[in-house]
Amino acid sequence: MKALVLKEPGVTAVESIADLLPGKDDVVLKVRMVGLCGSDLNSFRGKNPMVSFPRVLGHEVAGTVVTAPAKLPPGTDVTLSPYTSCGQCASCLRGRPNACQYNQTLGVQRDGAMTEYLSVPAERIFTGNLSIKELCLVEPLTVGFHAVARGRVTPQDTVAIIGCGGVGLGAVAGSAIRGARTIGIDVDGDKLRIARAAGATDTINTATEPLHERLMDLTAGRGPDVIIEAIGLPQTFRAAVEEVAFTGRVVYIGYAKEPVAYETRLFVQKELDILGSRNALPEDFEAVIRMLETKRFPVNEAVSSIIPLEQVPDALNEWSREPARVKKILVDLDQKPNV
Ligand SMILES: [Zn+2]
Ligand SMILES: [Zn+2]
Repeated sequence: MKALVLKEPGVTAVESIADLLPGKDDVVLKVRMVGLCGSDLNSFRGKNPMVSFPRVLGHEVAGTVVTAPAKLPPGTDVTLSPYTSCGQCASCLRGRPNACQYNQTLGVQRDGAMTEYLSVPAERIFTGNLSIKELCLVEPLTVGFHAVARGRVTPQDTVAIIGCGGVGLGAVAGSAIRGARTIGIDVDGDKLRIARAAGATDTINTATEPLHERLMDLTAGRGPDVIIEAIGLPQTFRAAVEEVAFTGRVVYIGYAKEPVAYETRLFVQKELDILGSRNALPEDFEAVIRMLETKRFPVNEAVSSIIPLEQVPDALNEWSREPARVKKILVDLDQKPNV
């Protein structure tokens, strides 16, 4: 079967790979749509130390059941959790398999979904009353939903999300669906417009507005109760600690690519909860599916293009040249290449 293979950093090709050998308890899916993610771009650029080559990319998946051991009729449209967990490490023993020490993400440490068929253990399959396109957006949104769960967001909270790209947008939607007052922060007016459509009550464009003054105005001088950092830059890592309210919660989802220097006095003085957030739990998948079923998420605005598999090498090159311009590319495995 054909697949999109990352042969080495910067080099991709659509080529033929070995057919599936599904385990007897696995669900076999016809892959229908796969989202391209920032981590795929990182792998493509050779900036993901966890990836080895050659590698089939893709971990944001919508598919249709071909065969399944039980309960799942063939023809059902589904999505899946792309993570694995060992069951024995400290995270797994604490019931937090999303942070398994030995996790292997589809398309990163093992071959991914940009191919025709996929076999997946049944417990990692999720269904909902959703279109293929909506199912394909579930996994990237779960990462933001998990951060909101880590921040223990309630309707009494004001939550600020720094960065309204794919992951941050999920946090905006997750915070809004919990009834919190939600402030989206970004330098891109277009992303802020989508954040408002996803439930942000207020937005701050830090390219033109002063972050501190605007946050003070919006929170009666106290600062947000929860700040979720979804960019990964030293200055936004610091801003989260500086701007959050006393006794507030800071949640980090962004991976900082360099060391960050802090005024650690603020950790103590404000008595902060500083939390990391990684991947997502099954309950985050369920929560995103329920949210998408309400049709309150701006699915069409959140997707910038839908392309056939054959176009992925060009799309990755283009995205790599202009990373800021692309929102979300979905790869439609049913779409025939334009010739
Ligand atoms: Zn992703
Ligand atoms: Zn584990």
